[in-house]
Amino acid sequence: MKKIEYREQALKILPWVCGKCGRDFTGKKLRELTVHHKDHNFRNNPPDGSNWELLCIYCHDNEHSRSLDAEWLPTQDADAEKTPTATHTPFADLKNLLRKPGKHKGKDEAD
Ligand SMILES: [Zn+2]
Ligand SMILES: [Zn+2]
Repeated sequence: MKKIEYREQALKILPWVCGKCGRDFTGKKLRELTVHHKDHNFRNNPPDGSNWELLCIYCHDNEHSRSLDAEWLPTQDADAEKTPTATHTPFADLKNLLRKPGKHKGKDEAD
């Protein structure tokens, strides 16, 4: 989970205060403080923190306006694991049938 290391680093060097609303976050609430990338490029993580801004999840949401951004998906990896990403499945054929657009929907024998 290298991805979230920038958050650790950002929390080390930046004050735990939302850059927008100015609320401070400590203890459990610290989870609500997220790292915003000023250039919106989550791969750009200079160790001096010049591309980071700490924002609470609400302000961060506003900042990006279109709800979710790849930038802060890494913190939600735990949820992503629940999604089945089967590489092999006995229902491969069924999958193909479901993929067919429109008309048949795999019910060829019906009707
Ligand atoms: Zn805020
Ligand atoms: Zn952001």
